[in-house]
Amino acid sequence: MTKSNEEIHIQGVPIADGIAIGALHFLKINEQFSIPEFSITFDQVSGEIDRYRKALVSSREELEKLQFLLYYEGSNEAAQIIESHIKMLEDPLITIEIEEKIGAMLKNTESVFHHAMNDYKKLFININKRDVNCSLLDVQDLLDRILKHLLPNSCINDESIPSHCILSARELFPTAIARVSTNHIRAIVTEIGGMTSHIAIIARSRRIPYVSNIDVNSLEKISGVNVIIDGNSGKMIINPQTETVKWYKREKKEIVYHLINEKPKRITCTSDGVEIDVQANLDSLYDLKLLKEYNVGAIGLLRSEFLYLQKETQSFNEEEQFVLYKRLMQLAGNIEVSFRVFDVGSDKNYFKLNLVEPNPALGCRSIRFLMKHKEIFASQIRAILRAANFGKLKLLLPLISDVEELKQAKEFIYLQIKQLKKDGHIIKDSIQIGCMVEAPSFVIMCDQIIKECDFLSIGTNDLTQYTLAIDRSNPQTCDIYTPLHPSIIRMIKQITEEADRQNVPIGICGEVASNQHFTPTLIGIGLRKISCAARFIPMIRKVIENVNVRDEEIKLKSILR
Ligand code: PEP
Ligand code: MG
Repeated sequence: MTKSNEEIHIQGVPIADGIAIGALHFLKINEQFSIPEFSITFDQVSGEIDRYRKALVSSREELEKLQFLLYYEGSNEAAQIIESHIKMLEDPLITIEIEEKIGAMLKNTESVFHHAMNDYKKLFININKRDVNCSLLDVQDLLDRILKHLLPNSCINDESIPSHCILSARELFPTAIARVSTNHIRAIVTEIGGMTSHIAIIARSRRIPYVSNIDVNSLEKISGVNVIIDGNSGKMIINPQTETVKWYKREKKEIVYHLINEKPKRITCTSDGVEIDVQANLDSLYDLKLLKEYNVGAIGLLRSEFLYLQKETQSFNEEEQFVLYKRLMQLAGNIEVSFRVFDVGSDKNYFKLNLVEPNPALGCRSIRFLMKHKEIFASQIRAILRAANFGKLKLLLPLISDVEELKQAKEFIYLQIKQLKKDGHIIKDSIQIGCMVEAPSFVIMCDQIIKECDFLSIGTNDLTQYTLAIDRSNPQTCDIYTPLHPSIIRMIKQITEEADRQNVPIGICGEVASNQHFTPTLIGIGLRKISCAARFIPMIRKVIENVNVRDEEIKLKSILR
């Protein structure tokens, strides 16, 4: 690639929506820098340990500050990822072992740390054979941070990144994107980075357009050249000509994120008057304020496992959960909450459970995990049912794949209600119990299963994974992970029609619900409740206003023909 003025279009993979125009800045990270290695005397050991402890404290302070800023700006998913880095700092392999090794090896801190961390990474790879790319990057990210405090002049610093640039690198550390201000970088381009990598989550959370799978080798030579990053289509345009820039500027203006001046209407009408309820997916209490601003009527999906990310199960008993859930219900007020019980296992190996299974996505996850760990399920259900008195709460069960499984889960919930009453608690008599539609078997048997459901929520993230047999979190397969594949459209249509026939309310809450390009199709299929991440609500509502339902129904017929 040369520095000629020719307009060049490169197709990558769209990771985070949005369009940005700016000068390209190529970042070389992970460059090998030499670690000094020398012997120390026994008398110097305590000084070296002291230096190491200070590096850990400084790293922690830095991460806590970063986390606070992320929460403050509303990037909650990003802040939660930083929490995992903070927790890693407490790992005895990083704390006690290094100190012991400094004393045993009689070498300077950075060299001991460097050797030990190479072993730590190897161990990490062996433990986490799956998902290595994402998680190892987090480990490396943290290790570099500590090293930076031991060798302050060795690592890249943010000041070297020019303002308002389009940042490109082969691969980026999650905290590199978490810490730079969104004014500082307008978009990201990388070679490596999947849809569900931490960097992707942080970029989406911070509303930074992001395209990956771009061969960045040639980009280094054109640092400084103007580029457009189209995170919606996955395109990178080098040297955009005036007409292209004009077209994009028009396009960008149409994308509304938070430009609300007056209280929006709760229900959005399509251009031909069909009412659509845009609801919210919630992962933490922080977004609740935003929901009030947006005048949202319901939380279509509360991912309760996210409230306890990085915590051990022993650390949240029924009472502690009750306090948190009660607070959530009080903050939600009139907003109805579809409270999904812990959806752990598979890619969500939370609660420090260290689940080791040969095939986790097909293993003991979600409802299966809860029914096998009844003490965890019981304490959560009891806490939820008690908190239900403080607002409008419905129970949502993840990954139901069989009618018997659902009946048993409901029996277990009824048993808890009985027991709670026996224990003297006042519990609402009728609690609605709904199911996530995530397993193909649910759709195939929907005429029977729906009879057992009070409401339904379609989880296209898992439904796509299981229908197309494509791992949802594998960067190698993100190009063929197609959430609105005709087979998925057929399934959504089938379940929506059956739910309507049986008069059971149905909504959709997978990532497709946050994608404005899919909104018209979802409405054409017949969905009237769309639950998406809070920050997308204004944009999705805006798209809905321009949808003509009749036209979408006709288009859909031709897709499904
Ligand atoms: C889904 O599977 O579509 C869903 C919403 O659940 P999660 O992404 O939490 O697995
Ligand atoms: Mg799911």
